[in-house]
Amino acid sequence: MNDVSYMHLALQLAERTKGQTSPNPMVGSVVVKNGEIVGMGAHLKAGTEHAEVHAIKMAGEKAKEATIYVTLEPCSHHGKTPPCTDLIIKNGIKRVVIATLDPNPLVAGSGIEKLREANIEVEVGVLEQEARELNKVFFHFISNCTPFVTLKTATSLDGKIATSTGQSKWITGDAARTDVHQLRHEHDAILVGIGTVLADNPTLTTRIETGGKNPIRIILDRTLRTPLDSNIVINKEAETWVVTSVQAPKTKQDELEKLGVKVVKVAHDKIKIKDLLQILGKKGITSLFVEGGSAVNDSFLRAHAINELITYIAPKLIGGKEAPTSFSGIGFSKIENALPLTIKEVKQIGDDIKIVSVPKGG
Ligand code: NDP
Ligand code: ZN
Repeated sequence: MNDVSYMHLALQLAERTKGQTSPNPMVGSVVVKNGEIVGMGAHLKAGTEHAEVHAIKMAGEKAKEATIYVTLEPCSHHGKTPPCTDLIIKNGIKRVVIATLDPNPLVAGSGIEKLREANIEVEVGVLEQEARELNKVFFHFISNCTPFVTLKTATSLDGKIATSTGQSKWITGDAARTDVHQLRHEHDAILVGIGTVLADNPTLTTRIETGGKNPIRIILDRTLRTPLDSNIVINKEAETWVVTSVQAPKTKQDELEKLGVKVVKVAHDKIKIKDLLQILGKKGITSLFVEGGSAVNDSFLRAHAINELITYIAPKLIGGKEAPTSFSGIGFSKIENALPLTIKEVKQIGDDIKIVSVPKGG
């Protein structure tokens, strides 16, 4: 085993905590002494021990003179837990291998500096790209203070998200839908437009075998058309926030609030996506999963607010000029303005295809 394979193991440990560490990053750590793994750990939940603490505790006496692998620069400041750099120094670790620096420009490099001052050998950049990809949400949130936006669509092979009569259940198969539920579990919040609520009456909860976490449900609804008996109101498994405008009728707002819905008002008659993301960022939402429909998708597209696009394509043809596609609204009138994407992943899920793409140039 070499540095790369130990770091790979640390990354695997971190990855298994997907969906449970927000707003903190996923971090894994492995302690190795004389070719033997003597400690392993991952950060499990915000406010609890960091990955290095678990790994060093497990190593015990063997941490002395050992090498520690960490997927993110060890912290050097007093947060909810004491600094990990102090623990590393106190336990006599002689070498620290780090995948990537802390993304916060105010602290980046300070953990390393502290370790080097204590005469510890430090190496940075082992599997850096993988580590940054794993924590892309965290890196994005720290730099922008707005959530990382993943927009998902499920279409037929001819790009339709529903039939001409508005029926959309189900275009894709079970396996693709299970994949979507896993993605819900991994996000802080899920967002749809009032059009989707009225057409489909979705519950927007996470249904996976292992239970899973329910993201906050966010509905864009300028005039509070959300029915009081809709599933997102009566189902209490997750919080529901309805984002509305100055046009919201006060009585309807009271009725929704009485039923436990949080009403978030923007100061205009339209909900501008950039404003919305600022508001959600301030409320601590680090990742947002946009599930449509086509008008909402178009607003995110035109606001250049999509960080990652996930498209499930079913081998089915729906046809029909009136049948909606993933993005409606105005779109771009010139090809040169179309959003160029880079495909990151293509795979078959059941009978369907999943394509993950990102806007070119970030
Ligand atoms: P949307 O769900 O996109 O909702 C659109 C409505 O949201 C608007 O009419 C508007 O109503 C409100 N809204 C508030 N702010 C904004 C904003 N900034 N941008 C856009 N809309 C805003 O409705 P659609 O009718 O476009 O799509 C619904 C259809 O899509 C259904 O048939 C559904 O089955 C299908 N669907 C398919 C999916 C798939 O993946 N296959 C996923 C989701 C939906 P107001 O002005 O009243 O606020
Ligand atoms: Zn720490």
